[in-house]
Amino acid sequence: MSSAVVVVGAGLAGLSAVRALRALGHEGPVVLVGDERHAPYDRPPLSKEFLAGALPRQGLSLAAPGDEALDVEVRTGDAAVALDPRTCRVRLASGDQVGGAGVVLACGARARSLPGLPGVPVAARAAEPATGPPAGVHTLRSLDDALTLRDELRPGARLVVVGAGFIGAEVASTARGLGVEVTVVEAAPVPLAAVLGERFGAVCARRHADHGVRLIAGVGVAELLAEQGRVRAVRLVDGRQLEAQVVLVAVGSAPAVGWLDGSGLDVEGGVLTDAAGATGVPGVVATGDCTRRFAPTAGGVVRQEHWTNALHHPHQAVAALLGRPAPPVPGPAAVPYFWSDQYGARLQFAGHRRPGDLERVVEGDPGSGPFVAEYHRDGVLVAVLAVDSPRLFTRRRRDLAATPARQEG
Ligand code: FAD
Repeated sequence: MSSAVVVVGAGLAGLSAVRALRALGHEGPVVLVGDERHAPYDRPPLSKEFLAGALPRQGLSLAAPGDEALDVEVRTGDAAVALDPRTCRVRLASGDQVGGAGVVLACGARARSLPGLPGVPVAARAAEPATGPPAGVHTLRSLDDALTLRDELRPGARLVVVGAGFIGAEVASTARGLGVEVTVVEAAPVPLAAVLGERFGAVCARRHADHGVRLIAGVGVAELLAEQGRVRAVRLVDGRQLEAQVVLVAVGSAPAVGWLDGSGLDVEGGVLTDAAGATGVPGVVATGDCTRRFAPTAGGVVRQEHWTNALHHPHQAVAALLGRPAPPVPGPAAVPYFWSDQYGARLQFAGHRRPGDLERVVEGDPGSGPFVAEYHRDGVLVAVLAVDSPRLFTRRRRDLAATPARQEG
């Protein structure tokens, strides 16, 4: 049997890794393994235009001109279930074994459920079957998740979104646009404060109210109430009860690394790698949302669950696997970057903010529309946030990339 490089995870990082293998001259067999039944597709539209019904299924495809020359064996609908680090072989749920020449772990992340109740967002009442969450309760990570959620977002339906992070806020915005009655519940007093800081988190919070979405912050969820197997309400820890026909649990994601337990890799909170993506096990590298990567300039490990990272970083990881010099990350992409579309506005953020950084609005007015804000530490620009101000944002993002000591974090 031939020795192939196996890429586990047929998402953006996995496909980017396959492209990098060929671009960096790997001529042997490549196997791309994905547990979903779909060919690689793009996730950001799942909470935005695809959920709104404004983007057809084909619009999600990650296929690009030239991919037909990749000569890759794609095995969708089959999960990797074990890795043998000595032989660099991966066992699949089908029983097949693949790999041998190297392994790229690009298995991404899964949506979290509410803490303490694995697989079940919160307990249905004792009278309800204990087999899983009641109907109407969703998480959003995959195309299949988006399809089932989309079916339920009918005008007039009552949706409770648990978690006002980026995905929760985007779904609230999309659902509102579809005529759904939306309430967002957030345990933290100010949504997104951990990422943007309290001042700009509060700006995002106000946007919910401005668009007819009720935000209840600083209160956790105690229980989901169900009737005949279907959710009917959400009870908050302060006793309030919110009627709901649909609930989205949007409380973050966790690396999809359970299958690597016992492999000898450090997978606590993500596959631990060096800056390039090497895991410490020869022949095994990791990239994308499944990783916890050492960033020398940050003096520690970081998790980046951003599209741009999943696009560019696989080239570094594959270079490490093949023992080639890592190609430079293109310009601004050297800095962590993400965007979010909410209520018709595009939010963009680059860099890495820490509590205590000095915040300064340098253009526009956060109270009334587009703006750009900078974050400074010790007099140095470390991050930039913009709402509907792509030009200045792009300039500042380039400035950040040109400041080597601030490139990672
Ligand atoms: P994934 O996209 O998670 O792909 C990993 C794949 O591996 C999945 O198909 C998974 O099922 C599969 N897999 C897992 N375990 C196994 C296994 N054992 N065997 C085989 N296959 C396996 N980022 C932004 O910057 N801006 C945005 O606006 C934005 N919006 C988003 C909206 C949504 C709804 C979601 C879910 C994410 C969004 N992101 C956004 C994040 C971005 O999509 C991710 O950072 C990116 O998809 C990560 O790519 P990945 O390939 O590392 O992981």
